[in-house]
Order: sequence, then C-alpha cells, then structure tokens
Amino acid sequence: MSALPEAYGAALERAMAHATDWLASVPSRSVRPASDADQVASSLLSSLPDEATDAADVVDELAALAEPGLMAIQSGRFYGWVMGGTLPAAMAADWLVSAWDQNAGLRFATPAAAAIEESAAAWLLELLDLPRGSDVGFTTGATTANFAGLAAGRQYLMDEAGWDLADLGLTGAPRITTFAGRERHAAVDLALRYLGLGACVPVDTDHQGRILPDALADAMDEQPGPSLVCLQAGNLHSGAFDPMSEAIAVAHDREAWVHVDGAFGLWAAVSPHLRGRLAGVEEADSWATDAHKTLNVPYDCGLAIVSRPEALRRAFSIHTSYLIATETGLGDPFDKVPELSRRARGIPVWAALRQLGRSGVIAMVDRLAANARALAEGLAGIPGVEILNDVVFTQVSVAFGSDDRTHRVTQRLMAEGIVWMSGSSWRGREILRISVSNWSTDAGDVAASIAAVRGAAEAEPEA
Ligand SMILES: *Cc1c(COP(=O)(O)O)cnc(C)c1O
Repeated sequence: MSALPEAYGAALERAMAHATDWLASVPSRSVRPASDADQVASSLLSSLPDEATDAADVVDELAALAEPGLMAIQSGRFYGWVMGGTLPAAMAADWLVSAWDQNAGLRFATPAAAAIEESAAAWLLELLDLPRGSDVGFTTGATTANFAGLAAGRQYLMDEAGWDLADLGLTGAPRITTFAGRERHAAVDLALRYLGLGACVPVDTDHQGRILPDALADAMDEQPGPSLVCLQAGNLHSGAFDPMSEAIAVAHDREAWVHVDGAFGLWAAVSPHLRGRLAGVEEADSWATDAHKTLNVPYDCGLAIVSRPEALRRAFSIHTSYLIATETGLGDPFDKVPELSRRARGIPVWAALRQLGRSGVIAMVDRLAANARALAEGLAGIPGVEILNDVVFTQVSVAFGSDDRTHRVTQRLMAEGIVWMSGSSWRGREILRISVSNWSTDAGDVAASIAAVRGAAEAEPEA
C-alpha cells in the first residue's frame, strides 16, 4: 500500500487553512497589494536549497511569502481591468480538478472530465442561446478563444478556396483580409499575429466604440476576397455591443466568416433584459468568451464556441480523419483547443452553473449591470465628475475634468486601496475605468466605493 493520503493530508489541510484565512481577510483588507513584485522577490530564496522541505511547511512558507503581494481581486470593491471573482462551488471544484489530475484531452482516457465538460458546454449553449451542436473548447482565456475561433474561420475560408492549409501553409495562399472595429481589444490583434494573417483593416466606430455597419460594408467592398470579420460584444471602456444583426448581415452578404469577441459582454445574452443589445449575435460563426470574468470561475478559463465543428477540428485535431474519432460525433476535447494536454478547466464552469442555476446566472449578470448603473449614478453626483459612456453593461468610464486631475484621482484611489479601479485612456481622454465583474459586489460595496471616489476627488481639486 502506498502512503498517498498521508503524503497529501497535512499539506492540503494547511492549504485549506490559508485559503480560508485569505478569503476571510478579503472584505476588510486593502484591495491593493502591500508589496510590489520586487519586494516579494527580495524575500524569496535566491538559490534553490539542496535539501528537501516538508510539504506542509512549503505551504506555510508560500502563504507567508505571497500574502503581502496579493491583490484582493476577490474583493467586491475590485473593479480593475475586467477580472471577476470566484464562486464558491467553482473554487472548490477547481481544487478537485487538481486532486483528480485528469489530463482532459481524450474522451476515452478521462471520461468523467469529458462528460462533465460536455454537459457544461451544452448548458452554456442554452444559456447564451447559441446554435446547439456548436463545438465548445475550454481554453486558457479569451485570447486563446479568439485565436481558436479565428483559426476555425481561417480554416473554413482556406477550404472554401480549395487551398490545403495543413499541407501548404500560408506561403502563396489566398490572402485573407480581417476587418475589425477600431476599438477592438488588443487580444484580437494578438490572435491574428499567431495566425499569420497580418494586421486587420480597422473599421470606423461610433462614439460608444461600436462598429459602423456602413463603414464595414465600404471597407469590405474595397478589399474583396476571403475575409474574416471580428465583431465585439462588450467594449472595454463603454461596455457597448457592435450592432450584431446589421454587421453580421453585411459580412455574410460578402461570404465572410464572422467571429465575435465577447470576452465579458457575451454574457449579456443570458439576460432577457440585456439580450436585445446584442440581438442577432447567434448568427455569427464563432464566439470567444471568458468564464473567468463574468461567470466568476477561478483563473483560468475561456470558451471558444464554433458553429461549424468541422472547421474547428480541421484546424486543431491531430486525428488523421477529422471526421470524429469518437463514436458519438462529439469529438475529443483536444480537437477543439490548441493544446493536447490540459487541466479539466471546464469542471469549475459546470460547478458554477450548477451552483447558480439558470435563474441565478441571469440574476448575477443583471446584478453586475445594475451595480454598474448604481456606481455611475452615484459618481455623477460628485461635482466635476463626468460619466463618458452610456452604461449599457458592466463598464463605466469616468473623467474628473482635466486629464491631469483624472490621473491624480486615479493614483490616489490606487494608493488608498479602498477600491481598485484602472486608469486608462479613451477617445483622447484620460479616464478612470470601472468594471463590475465580481459576483459578490453588493450595495454596501457600491456605497463605500462611491464614498471613496468622492473623497479622492475632493482631495485632488482641479489645479
Ligand atoms: C479580457 C478580454 C480579452 C482577453 O481575454 P483573456 O481572458 O485575458 O485572454 C479579449 N477581449 C476582450 C473584450 C476582453 O475584455
């Protein structure tokens, strides 16, 4: 008999204690880390000791070393970038994923992981109301999900053009042109870089950052031929949604593959109150979103959803026949993502959905949007504050008069640590950007956050 349980028991108990201590400290601790990375680094051993250390002691040492450098992303007053917290069932499921240590690539080898991820995928397609039967790949994030969706589109267009991409590569291939709004996320450019497709053609957007369908039509008519169109559901600064129906019609009239970057905004589709803002999104060919943002599963998890499974599998499968090695037609998990080996990151997604239930997912998404509106309303009451966007989802962009003052208020807020909101610039102005992405943000957090911004604004008057 091996002594497996004993080898793990003490270390896991210590991890459990440190995790609960950490979570208990989150509501009252400073949101910002006390130490920067260089300070944490200076407390770490510079060379790896020769001798072994007891596993439980390693856990204690790690927790003590990390604590000063942890950002309280789990806090209801963390609004930085677009990040999101973690639902309890999802966090616990993630621990089990590590304990089970399934390499989730093969259906036959890790049947529980495959079946649970397939169940989560089917629930997701229903919730988001995307074409049933689409392939869902569980990726590291939306960057890789965008990569996967666009890779499927590239594959499809090359197949249509009669070009054997796997055999011949891109050299000498038909040119694919990609069109995307000027306010696309940089992750889209990164994905295009991975794909060797070159820079996209930037298409003009309106004052909320939404692509202009007429401008898209003009741009596409100027450069006809195989094309990818990348739309956005959820602008980083405004939360705005590209006009899906019109833009998709423009693109499909010209035989383009339409991909939607909906890293956080695609989740608006679950809500009957919000879905109208992205009406027609289901007409696209592929979608990228994150589970680690709006759905509040732990890092990391993105979702690549493709309505034409054969295009995705031709791009990523290593089966000699892409026509499905498994008997069910579901394909192996590794047919749908860039990796072969990976953790079963779809299991925390299943747990999050199971914890909330359908109505709970809708309520959570609605609550994030309601909190964003409440923050915007509260902040608008502070003298000199301008809310620059229409608050249609979870994002609020705020200015405090001059760029200089906005910058100073942002720096002060970050130094105080009561809230965390990112500085950014949008449409030529410095802004303070708020993203409400944490399931646990409540009315008390909203009130405390408005008070913190009011205090910082008063302390940093216009010069
Ligand atoms: C966050 C985000 C991405 C990148 O997602 P990762 O999960 O960080 O890879 C892409 N697009 C949009 C709109 C985003 O908000």
